[in-house]
Amino acid sequence: MLRTTGAVSVASALGAMVGSCARPEQAAAETSATAVELPDLLAPTERESGKMPAPLPWEKRVGVAVVGLGRLSLEQILPAFAQSKLCKPVALVSGDTAKARNVAARYGVSAKSLYDYKTYDRLSDNAAVDVVYVVLPNGMHAEYTVRAAHAGKHVLCEKPMANSVDECQQMINACKSANKQLMIAYRMQYEPYNREIIRLARAGEIGKLKAFSATNGQNQGDPKQWRLKRALAGGGALPDVGIYCLNAARYVSGEEPTEVQAMQYSTPNDPRFTEVEEQVNFTLRFPSGFLASSVTSYGVHDSKRFRVLGESGWVELDPAFPYAGQTMRIGRKRPGSKIEDVDQPRLEVKNQFALELDHMATCVQKNQRPHTPGEEGMQDMRVIAAIYEAARTGNTIKLPTINGLDAFRGPTPS
Ligand code: NAD
Repeated sequence: MLRTTGAVSVASALGAMVGSCARPEQAAAETSATAVELPDLLAPTERESGKMPAPLPWEKRVGVAVVGLGRLSLEQILPAFAQSKLCKPVALVSGDTAKARNVAARYGVSAKSLYDYKTYDRLSDNAAVDVVYVVLPNGMHAEYTVRAAHAGKHVLCEKPMANSVDECQQMINACKSANKQLMIAYRMQYEPYNREIIRLARAGEIGKLKAFSATNGQNQGDPKQWRLKRALAGGGALPDVGIYCLNAARYVSGEEPTEVQAMQYSTPNDPRFTEVEEQVNFTLRFPSGFLASSVTSYGVHDSKRFRVLGESGWVELDPAFPYAGQTMRIGRKRPGSKIEDVDQPRLEVKNQFALELDHMATCVQKNQRPHTPGEEGMQDMRVIAAIYEAARTGNTIKLPTINGLDAFRGPTPS
């Protein structure tokens, strides 16, 4: 306990130091690339296997410009830099100068590194910026990714990647021409419980995968918000939260769907759903016979979960998709018995945004393809287009068969 507490307090002190962004040169002097060793206090049976965190020295960190200072940036992404080991925030882009100054002061970002949407392209002159993190409404992702690539920067872009497959292709092309990495911020693919489910599903621990059911829904408020405007959001519940169900069915199985069926519904006369849909139920068929059914809605109380059924067991995450609090259960039949053993494995909790930022930093430093590159985001957009078509026409929509596992993903994150 003492040892754990000691490690945590040193780690948090480092985190607080970099998070509050003491002067970079000061932080660099105080941070060592070598892990600090502490003596063991507890019996060997109690010993933890984890090592002390060894964050990169300040001057070696990958510099990130955060674009858009809305809810996600302010509540999750900027605070997560305190737990990143490889990144630092070095620039902000916002249409609101007073807000940008206020936020910059809190995170130690230089007043010289504040931009608005007109001066954004001048990021090309800022050598401290390695990565541009696009955290704008969906309909702006393509433009700001292409402009970042033209400015010579790597891009981390929020999900959904864009409003259409065409936009995704433009983003991929721009980053490829600039010889820069493009990663889509699918935080669940870096989150430990989701990674563990991928591992055990692929390892056959619940037998051959047969079925998947998922829900991601929330009750949306203000009818004027951008999420309910087609041009800025691209759609309603499906691209915003339904994408988590779709992406999970794809990453758990590693396969790509070949057929899509769907229905959608919007409450008549509800002012929230004049431009975008309220709810979509969709089913995907995968080449192995795995069938995945999902419900996504903007008109229900929060529900964010999935369950995978295999021949000899099941595994679920409930909740699965929030920023924290993932709870996993796995049920397996005991061989030679009628008894089902149900376990609730516990994993070390990690900040999902820090994990994804550090993966991006590793890809930049090693010139490595991200685990969730632009092609991964574009495949979701292809399937989303097929889901909408299926819902509109009532037909089963076929998609090209894609062989092999993880066809659109880069190397698995360490
Ligand atoms: P938000 O509305 O809180 O923030 C959007 C920001 O964009 C605001 O600062 C706003 O001022 C700015 N902006 C610039 N031009 C705008 C325009 N024309 N209209 C509206 N806003 C404009 O949204 P958010 O929740 O921070 O979402 C931003 C992005 O992050 C979206 O793509 C969303 O899908 C994604 N997101 C991802 C997660 C996740 O868990 N990965 C969670 C929430 C949001």
